Amino acid sequence: MNERFLLMIPGPTIFEPSVLRELSITTLSHTSKEFIQIFDETLKNLRKIVFVDENYKTIILAGSGTLAMETSTTNFIKSGEKVLVVSNGYFGDRMIELLSKYPVKVDVLKAEELGSRVETEKILEKLDEGGYSLITVTHVDTSTGVKQELKSLGKEVRKHHDETLLVVDGVCSVAGEELYMKDWGIDILFTGSQKALGVPPGLAILWLSPKAMEKLKETKSAYAPYYMDLNRWIKVMEAYEELKPSYFATPAVNLIMALNKSLKLILEEGMERRFGRHKILSKAFRAGVKSIGLNVMAKNEDYAASTVTAIHLPQNIEVQQFLAEMQRRNVIVAGGPYPNINYFRVGHMGPVNANDILATMGAIERSLHKLGIPIELGKGLSETQNILANEGK
Ligand code: PMP
Repeated sequence: MNERFLLMIPGPTIFEPSVLRELSITTLSHTSKEFIQIFDETLKNLRKIVFVDENYKTIILAGSGTLAMETSTTNFIKSGEKVLVVSNGYFGDRMIELLSKYPVKVDVLKAEELGSRVETEKILEKLDEGGYSLITVTHVDTSTGVKQELKSLGKEVRKHHDETLLVVDGVCSVAGEELYMKDWGIDILFTGSQKALGVPPGLAILWLSPKAMEKLKETKSAYAPYYMDLNRWIKVMEAYEELKPSYFATPAVNLIMALNKSLKLILEEGMERRFGRHKILSKAFRAGVKSIGLNVMAKNEDYAASTVTAIHLPQNIEVQQFLAEMQRRNVIVAGGPYPNINYFRVGHMGPVNANDILATMGAIERSLHKLGIPIELGKGLSETQNILANEGK
């Protein structure tokens, strides 16, 4: 494989060279003054990108998004409690599986079909049955490219369900999709480093609201396994923010330095502009693939995520064949976690730009053409180009 290629999978994504360079510089001591300052700055900048104030706690752990899923939930449950999981796909289902290992009653609301989502009214009706200590929602399910509505859900939970914590899986949305944690009433939010945050895989990041902190006092992290015990981690994060050395388990020093760099780039771009860029690029890309006769899995534009698109392949083409043709053209896209569904996924998040979208669109057209699908070469490109140009890209 060529050393230079375009990684367009839904995480890990393309990374800025300046972020990657942080991984190759001499590792600092995790208790050094220099690193403590970097850690402090990183924790503070993480608050800015999800629009919360210093009353919210931010935690960075070495691990992947799944560690964040487990840490974000198991710290907040007590034996016998009821939790509600909303699932629009594979990662919602993962939350069901995960919570089923713990001594809670797991109720589930599932989208009727892949590409669809559970509507907010339906979730609120279920919550009205009362007694849920947690509700978990996946903001963007990476398996389907479907985005969940969060704004009114969060506001309603805050107004009418004081006993319930709203937990949001933001692994495929934070720093790519509009997300205002405080305004929208989200209590626990988590993500991984490798997607729209633009940092190689290996960090699990959590944000906790004051209400979540209150609940933590009550549960005392009783069901969180040792490494995931947030009561321990919060002390470490607080120490870093007071510029004091602290230790529970060794932080991923260079990855945190890379995150620090990436957050600076993100804040330099500005969150509104960043959300806008993701929106325009994804809209142009979806229009392009639709114009050559492919079906996007998300049922409508309102459901469609700005960070990832799932696309059905013509029935007579095998996913692996298609992925190989794409790779031959130096563009890496992904299959999906549903072996019975003939589809592929394209990630367009983080530092992605209009050129990347056009290169991907062009490679899709040429790959399909090579595989014998009668398409008009350039049609998808032209559609994508028009939208990009009209939107000022
Ligand atoms: N949630 C979502 C929405 C995801 O997309 C992913 C990863 N694709 C995860 C959770 C799990 O993250 P990881 O693979 O980093 O453990």
